[in-house]
Amino acid sequence: MIKEKVSNKAKANKAKVVPLRQPICLSVHGLESQVCGIMSNVIVMLISLGWNPAHIYIWESPSGVAFVSGSFLDNTSHLLFDIIDSYNALQFPRVSQHFDGKGIEKGVDFEVTFSLLRAYRRNKSGKEPRWKPEYAESRAAALETAFSGSLWPQSRVSDAFPDVSNECLWCGEPRADSLHDIYLCPHLFESEDSSILETNDLVEEAIEKANSNPCLWFRGIATIDLTQLPEEVMGYADSFKCAYELDPPPVGEWPSGDYFTDGGGGRFSSVASLRKCTIGIAHLVDSVLVFGCRSPLPGAVQTVPRSEVAAVLVLAMHLSCNAVVSVFSDNLVFVNAFKKGYDFCRKMLNSDIYI
Ligand SMILES: [Zn+2]
Repeated sequence: MIKEKVSNKAKANKAKVVPLRQPICLSVHGLESQVCGIMSNVIVMLISLGWNPAHIYIWESPSGVAFVSGSFLDNTSHLLFDIIDSYNALQFPRVSQHFDGKGIEKGVDFEVTFSLLRAYRRNKSGKEPRWKPEYAESRAAALETAFSGSLWPQSRVSDAFPDVSNECLWCGEPRADSLHDIYLCPHLFESEDSSILETNDLVEEAIEKANSNPCLWFRGIATIDLTQLPEEVMGYADSFKCAYELDPPPVGEWPSGDYFTDGGGGRFSSVASLRKCTIGIAHLVDSVLVFGCRSPLPGAVQTVPRSEVAAVLVLAMHLSCNAVVSVFSDNLVFVNAFKKGYDFCRKMLNSDIYI
């Protein structure tokens, strides 16, 4: 499955394939009655999510990304992720109307939002637990409660059940809302819990910002506008931009021998929205570097596993026709997949760069 921005190339490809018998109406209204099988069901689902299934092999997402299928054996993970994103994007405005949900309408960065929760659930530092199990479990439960809007400050209880007082049960503050419960209650400043002590310095900022962005300050939900750079400054390369070390032979003339490949995600690799991957290749003879090459990983899909595969692809692009090489990669998943052959690799997540 090839994922690419809708481009003239993609549009040209569309012209080469057999067009649908009926032009597609890009509105879901009334189409439900025409569902009579799996494909029409899929088409209506895609249209309802804002997609344009312009052809059986080319589906365009609402963000202008075209998925071009080359084979039914292709891995479809990227496509499914984008379809899920489309569904979530349609739900954000509705969900933002829920308790302390304002801000969600801007979109949620799920990876950043759930990163601490995943760390608590995993609770590993090497082979050892990172926290005491009961500590990690209680923090994870607290985070899930906040994420799901299940905190009930006394004001919320009183709104739902008017017979109940809205006063803070700890300090008697009238109408104890989320800001009071989470940041302002004097009871919090008497706490010896390290998690509370370490975040008391956020109180002033919370007073200033929480009511305009309650989903972050009261529920811990990070919105996309806070975590992602605008696309125009992301600076993704649209193709491999190779820089060379020690004056290697021209492209297409690299010799037989031993090549070492690697891929990395850069300084902020743990934050998906900031990750910028690079590939590296080194040609060694008798443990001495003869020449090397590095390039940014092109495209919006920036993952370390993809850069590991791309490093070998770039190497193949440089080799002479009859070169016989040994490639050393430290990515076991890629090595194992490669050994199983092309058909297996086409089912992998980065199937589009196995060629
Ligand atoms: Zn209080």
